[in-house]
Amino acid sequence: MELKAWLELADLQHNQVVAWRRYLHQHPELSFQESNTALYIEETLRSFGHMTVSRPTATSVMARFAGAQPGPVLAIRADIDALPIQEENDLPFVSQSSGVMHACGHDGHTAIALGVAKLLTEQLDPTSLEGEIRFIFQHAEELPPGGAEEMIAAGVLDGADYVIGAHLQSPVETGKVGVVAGPMLASPDIFTVTVTGKGGHAAEPHLTVDAIAIGAQVVTNLQHLTSRHFSPVEPLVVSVTKFLGGHTHNIIPGSVELGGTVRCMEPGLREEVPRRMEQIIRGITEAHGASYEMSYTYGYRPLINHKKVTQIVAGSVIDVLGSNALYTIKPSMAADDMSAYIHRIPGTYFNIGAGNREQGIVYPHHHPRFTIDEEALRIGVKVFIASALKLMGLR
Ligand SMILES: [Zn+2]
Ligand SMILES: [Zn+2]
Repeated sequence: MELKAWLELADLQHNQVVAWRRYLHQHPELSFQESNTALYIEETLRSFGHMTVSRPTATSVMARFAGAQPGPVLAIRADIDALPIQEENDLPFVSQSSGVMHACGHDGHTAIALGVAKLLTEQLDPTSLEGEIRFIFQHAEELPPGGAEEMIAAGVLDGADYVIGAHLQSPVETGKVGVVAGPMLASPDIFTVTVTGKGGHAAEPHLTVDAIAIGAQVVTNLQHLTSRHFSPVEPLVVSVTKFLGGHTHNIIPGSVELGGTVRCMEPGLREEVPRRMEQIIRGITEAHGASYEMSYTYGYRPLINHKKVTQIVAGSVIDVLGSNALYTIKPSMAADDMSAYIHRIPGTYFNIGAGNREQGIVYPHHHPRFTIDEEALRIGVKVFIASALKLMGLR
C-alpha cells in the first residue's frame, strides 16, 4: 500500500483518536497510579485483535504485533501519566479528577500510539509481516525514578532493534515537527548538602560557626563549576534551588540545608561534576570549621538521539507534511526518561507542534490551562506510521 493510502486511512480514524484523547483527558491519573488508564489502554488494544497484550508493571502496558517471519523489531513508546495540577480550562472534556490534570500532553501521546496500533494491526497481515512492532505504554514519566527503567527491567526492550517516541509541544505551532540528531535533553540529577556549624547568640558571632554565612559561600563557589571548572562549550547547569536555615533574628542556626539540580548532556561530565562539587564544599566547610554531608542522586540519563533513526523520522516528516514542516530542535536542559530506551538501542525522540495562537492554545506545559490542538494528533499518527513503515522496510 502506498504511503498516501495509509495517510487517508489515518484521516478516516482521526475522530476515534480524538475520542481516546478526550476520554484520557477526562480521567487523568498521577505517576505510578495509572490503574484505570492502563486498563483502558489494555482493553482498547485487545479490541484491535492480532496483538499480544501484557502488563510489564502494575500500571503500564505492552502490546506486541509480531509477524510470522523474522525481521526488525520496532518499539514505539508513549507515556501515559498526568500531573498534580488543578485544571483551569473550560473544555467539554475537562479533567474529572480534582487536582489531577493531563497538563503535559501524555493523553495525546497515548491516543496517537493507540491510533498507530489500530491502523497497523488492521492493515498489515501478520502471516507475511517480517519482524515485530511493539507498543510501550509507559507509566510515570513525570516522577523520578520514572517508569522507563522499570519497564526495561521487565523486558520491554528485549530483542528490539529500534525505538521511537514523540512529545507534543504547545510552544510550537501545529503543523511543525522537530527532530535533532545527537544530544536533545539533559540528565536532571539532584543533590542535597547539609552544612553543620555551631549555633549561638547573634550578638556573639565569634563564638559560633555560622552555617548561614558558610552555606552562602558554598552557593557562590558552586557557580565556579559552570563558569571556571568546566568547558563553556559543554552544556552544564548547577543550580541551588533550596536554602533552608534559621528561624529568627537573634539566633545563628547550627546548620543549613541546601539543595538543587545538576544538568548536563555528556555522560563523562556527569560523572565528574559531583566529585568537583564535593571538593568545593569540603574546602569551604573545612576552612571555616564546619562540616558537611552531601547526597547526590542520579536522575534520568541525558537523551541523545541516534543519527540514522533520526534521519528516517526526518525523511518521514517530509514525506507526510513537506519539507517546510520540519525543524531542528534546539537541545534543552529539561529531561525525559525516553532516554532510558535510546541509551540501550538506536532510537529517536521527536517533537510534534501542538500550539495554535489563533485558537488561544498558547499555554506552556505543566500550566493549569495547557491544552493541545487536536490536529497535532492526526499529524502524530501519520509521522509515526510513515516512520514505522520505513524502519520495518515496508516502504
Ligand atoms: Zn511534563
Ligand atoms: Zn511530558
